[in-house]
Amino acid sequence: MASSWITRQRFPHWGHQANRWLGHWAGRLALGLVPPVCQSCHDWLSEGEGYPYLCQTCLDTLPWLDEKTLCPRCGQPPHQPSGPASSPACGPAEVDQVFAVFGYQPPLDTWIHHLKYEHQDGCRRMLGYLAARSPAGQAAGAWARAMIPVPLHPRRMLKRGFNQSLALAQAWGAALDKRGLPRPLLWPNLLTRRIHTQPQMSLQRQARLTNVATAFAPTAERTHGDMEGRRVLLVDDVMTTGSTLNACARVLKEMGAAQVGVLVWGRAESHPISVETSA
Ligand SMILES: [Zn+2]
Ligand SMILES: [Zn+2]
Repeated sequence: MASSWITRQRFPHWGHQANRWLGHWAGRLALGLVPPVCQSCHDWLSEGEGYPYLCQTCLDTLPWLDEKTLCPRCGQPPHQPSGPASSPACGPAEVDQVFAVFGYQPPLDTWIHHLKYEHQDGCRRMLGYLAARSPAGQAAGAWARAMIPVPLHPRRMLKRGFNQSLALAQAWGAALDKRGLPRPLLWPNLLTRRIHTQPQMSLQRQARLTNVATAFAPTAERTHGDMEGRRVLLVDDVMTTGSTLNACARVLKEMGAAQVGVLVWGRAESHPISVETSA
């Protein structure tokens, strides 16, 4: 009490100045008067299509994929020169349709890292917005009745504090709602991950395929009847071999799903093409 009295008496302007300064910037931030920066090139942003996330140049040069020009089974470029065609041997056997928003390359890899390990909420909302703007994300929204995020094992969930696939599914759904576009219902607790597996990225291809084969199971949640004969969509951040998604898809088909699609933000080992994206 005594020291604050002394401070007020001897330096009366300090508190006043600090309050004014803080009030000024808090007010500007609250009013959104401090322009955001582009999440890719870090330039100041003015109003535009990608606002408040990306400048037009960065938006246009992202590694967008268009599912219409890719093999629907594996999300890779066509296997025949004449156009998209699925091959029975390609892609995860239980997955009927791959919707991939981007090739898994910069800056997407950085953004996924920010989301998973730094919990950046702005990054989550931006990825939702981008998927809702993309041909793959819009097609996936109209394709499926329900979406199911790939679950984390409880031990990893405890460590990370949240499931990035659920976070992405929510952000994508909200962004589709904002555009008035169709979107699947979110069924967040339909699957459980019962085996704590090694991170897929750290394993060789064959090890990845066997690592997760029996890792997933249905939960006790009884909304399964709604799935009977329907198309459902698995949501995950990145698809590499597709072994995780395949294991989940197998369980969903055992539960009655007619077809299982997957929506991913990053398709590893893909070859992005230049596409006109619908706004
Ligand atoms: Zn930019
Ligand atoms: Zn294929």
